[in-house]
Amino acid sequence: MTGNPESKEELASRFARHSGDKGKFEKAVDAAFSGSVKKHTFLPSGRIVYTVVGSNADEFIDPDKPFCSCESYFFSVLSGKAKYCYHLLGYKIADESGLVREVRFDDDEYDAFVSLLASDVLHSREITKNPITKTQAP
Ligand SMILES: [Zn+2]
Repeated sequence: MTGNPESKEELASRFARHSGDKGKFEKAVDAAFSGSVKKHTFLPSGRIVYTVVGSNADEFIDPDKPFCSCESYFFSVLSGKAKYCYHLLGYKIADESGLVREVRFDDDEYDAFVSLLASDVLHSREITKNPITKTQAP
């Protein structure tokens, strides 16, 4: 990898090996290129929280687990249907391209940050909640 990509197309071509799922890949490239992948560093403790700004809300990710707070992760990745959601792919692309945006916070802001993030995640669930009721076997 040499420096930041000049265009989204260049970024996409660098990571073409992940383009198997086109929709997910495009969203991931978008997120990485637009600076939606954020690394929040809390000081002086040095705690780090990663988020990806999504269309409905910010999602909390843990690239080491890996874990993501989005529904796609919950329904597709945990059930083994997919290896990752677009947030985690976006992180990978951003990380390898030097596009992770760093934000610094004071440790005192941690509680407020987390509760804001959590309420954002929960709020997005309200918006996207699927009204279809599950059919139970008799
Ligand atoms: Zn996700």
